[in-house]
Amino acid sequence: MKNIVLFLIGMACISGLQAQIRIKPQPQPGFDKRIATYVSEMKVVDTHEHLEGQTSWMKNGKLDFMLLLQHYAYDDIRSAGMAKQTFNKLLTDSLSVIEKWNTLKPFWEGTSNTAYCRAALLTADQLFGIQDINGQTVESLSAKIKKAYQTDWYKVVINEKCAIDYMVIDGADHTLGSPSQFKYVKKFDYLSIDSRKKIGIIAKRQNVALNSVDDLVGALETEFKEAVKQGCVAIKTTVAYNRTLLFEDVSKTRAEEVFEQILSSKSDAPLPIEDVKPLQDYMMHRILDLARATNTPVQIHTGLQAGDGNYIENSRPTHLANLLLKYRDVNFILFHGGYPYGGELATLAKNFRNVSIDMCWLYIISPSYSERYLNEWLETVPANKIMAFGGDFRNVENIFGHLLFAKQIISKVLIDKVRDGYFTENEAIKIAQMILHDNAIRILKLDKR
Ligand SMILES: [Zn+2]
Repeated sequence: MKNIVLFLIGMACISGLQAQIRIKPQPQPGFDKRIATYVSEMKVVDTHEHLEGQTSWMKNGKLDFMLLLQHYAYDDIRSAGMAKQTFNKLLTDSLSVIEKWNTLKPFWEGTSNTAYCRAALLTADQLFGIQDINGQTVESLSAKIKKAYQTDWYKVVINEKCAIDYMVIDGADHTLGSPSQFKYVKKFDYLSIDSRKKIGIIAKRQNVALNSVDDLVGALETEFKEAVKQGCVAIKTTVAYNRTLLFEDVSKTRAEEVFEQILSSKSDAPLPIEDVKPLQDYMMHRILDLARATNTPVQIHTGLQAGDGNYIENSRPTHLANLLLKYRDVNFILFHGGYPYGGELATLAKNFRNVSIDMCWLYIISPSYSERYLNEWLETVPANKIMAFGGDFRNVENIFGHLLFAKQIISKVLIDKVRDGYFTENEAIKIAQMILHDNAIRILKLDKR
């Protein structure tokens, strides 16, 4: 008996303590390599980027090793103690490459453990052949980055190294490449109206007078329809950075009271969120009316908020349940694997046919969370509702590094599930194809807009 227990414990340790439900027979030898090769070589769809054009990086102070650390690694290096002003200086040409490294070094030593920083290390290695970021390597790494930008670098990385069929962009630059490859989402500032100033910005932009809630809804309708006409593939909202994701059902009368209160405020300063929330809630419902009428998916930021601390509770996916119930025929795409609310996200995507999971940003937040929850989601959520990659970066190098993270984790999860007998090898390959490619094309209608 004791031996059996020890054997079982041993087996559990080998398999990383996953549930071992054998449904399918033992796979043929070599299945692990075949799955890993398939995932490594397959074409992917990238559902979320903030990519800026190649030339926008070719400015003074931008093209050196700090390019790999300027986005999410920045958050962790500041969290490790570096002042924001000091970091920002590292993004200018006021210091030499080696001076930048000397400033960074103590903080890098304190934070190079995080996945944000590990992703930069993997990128330096796999894209530039530099195996570590340190005082001996930063100059050659910087020289290689500069040299790369003298070539058709974006095309090389996106098409050849990443094999990205479609890339969905949340950003201002709509000239990144062929419209058949680059697709765009639209964000609306109607959800963050909290001051006279913000109403003024919309009025000016739309060149209309905004004297009532009807005027505001009219301006939204015009902008929404224009965005759809321009081919936007989804509506995106990041309001969870500033307020709760609980959007209550608000009467038009109540929304009008708030609108009047904002217009009659004495300054342009923002009003407290408790005061303005009913109007923002009302506008969210109007956006969802339009999403329903135009069959446009809605991407919602849930979970972790980048940068300085914030109210993480605001971004709990389950706050959205009333909207998911009310707008049954709107496609909701919940972002970032809901980190750290992966279980909540599973319940929503499992129960609501109108909810999909998007794992953008997730692998560099935590590879082990991504692995744990991809495992769990493949047991709980229909695989046709999981989109497994979005780099969530501004530059192509970090997208490449993030994709390597994603492919490693996805391969590992699928291989484990085939080894355990949960899937066959063919099923695992079919799922890779769905979650890294086909689902996003179908859900976002990328081949049709
Ligand atoms: Zn993003």
